[in-house]
Amino acid sequence: MYDTIVIGGAAASLTAAIYAARRAMKTLVIAKSIGGQAAMTDVIENYPGFLSIGGIPLMNKMLKQAMKAGAEVIYEEVNAIEEIPNGNNGKPLFNVKTVSDNNYKTKTVMLTYGKTPRTLDVPGEGEFGAKGVSYCVTCDGPLFKGKKVVVVGGGNSALEGAEYLSKICPKVYLIHRRDQFRGFEYLVEEVKSRKNVEILYNSVVKEIKGEHIVHSVVVQNVVNNETKEIPVSGVFVEIGSVTKTDFIKHLVKLDQLGQVLTTNNAETYYPDNEKIRPGIFAAGDITQTPFKQIVVSAGEGCKAALQAYNYLAGQHPTFVADWVAKKKH
Ligand code: NAP
Repeated sequence: MYDTIVIGGAAASLTAAIYAARRAMKTLVIAKSIGGQAAMTDVIENYPGFLSIGGIPLMNKMLKQAMKAGAEVIYEEVNAIEEIPNGNNGKPLFNVKTVSDNNYKTKTVMLTYGKTPRTLDVPGEGEFGAKGVSYCVTCDGPLFKGKKVVVVGGGNSALEGAEYLSKICPKVYLIHRRDQFRGFEYLVEEVKSRKNVEILYNSVVKEIKGEHIVHSVVVQNVVNNETKEIPVSGVFVEIGSVTKTDFIKHLVKLDQLGQVLTTNNAETYYPDNEKIRPGIFAAGDITQTPFKQIVVSAGEGCKAALQAYNYLAGQHPTFVADWVAKKKH
């Protein structure tokens, strides 16, 4: 039985874990991997305390700090949360299930798993995941040095990705479903100026083909319906991100974008009324906060943990200095 289970492995999650464990709460972090969107960022220059640091090193520091504080970390994917009403002296208990069929019981849950890259949902995409299909130019781009690649998308991520890859790849195809980009104008101009970048407007990927690894993509022009097959080794899908809500929508209130609505203290609401939902807290990019920043996620993770502590202790939100609480389990 845990006092709290933190779902996710990036800034909000790891900060929540640091604060919960330092409150002597028995804390389990369940994460598919560590780092989230921050780990996809090469250089971070706006996280206070670091003039410049890579996303992965920053996330690894947070992980180390959470574990030092006493949090347990396991690498699994959560696919269900069951509520056991009144299972904890009038308060609910939760059974957190994972795709590996493991069950973990907890008095509180922290939803801090951010956003997930949007997928193309075309044949071959799943089959060639990590075999040529990538959702992160920053992470995987260097592996494709000297090879022909495709970048899909029309926002800043796709434009930045194409710009970076044009420096290390002989040919970059940028495939966008419309004839106008939605990214910064200076990036659009930069990408257009690269001689080895070919932009295919009004075009969509219909299939990713290969044998063990990616060999080509089939692209269709949505205006004239012409289809062509382009030989490439890498396909970078940079088409934004989505919030996974399938296993939480029966528990908490979401907005139209599927983001979790929270109070100022990281509490959530019941899906069908305005009441605060006991025992479930949320922080970071998964919430309605318009500021999807690492420092904001970390701050919200802190609030979620302290509010969960107050909830378990039967206290109303009050300021309790963190440095007084740490004790060993
Ligand atoms: P985004 O701005 O949401 O753009 C997603 C792009 O993918 C859009 O062009 C969209 O097309 C396209 N798209 C969406 N679904 C698609 C599908 N199923 N098939 C084909 N294309 C699809 O996402 P993002 O580029 O990842 O950026 C996310 C946020 O981070 C944005 O606010 C962005 O400004 C920010 N960002 C900032 C920087 C920076 O400041 N340097 C760098 C990267 C990202 P449509 O245009 O037709 O909708």
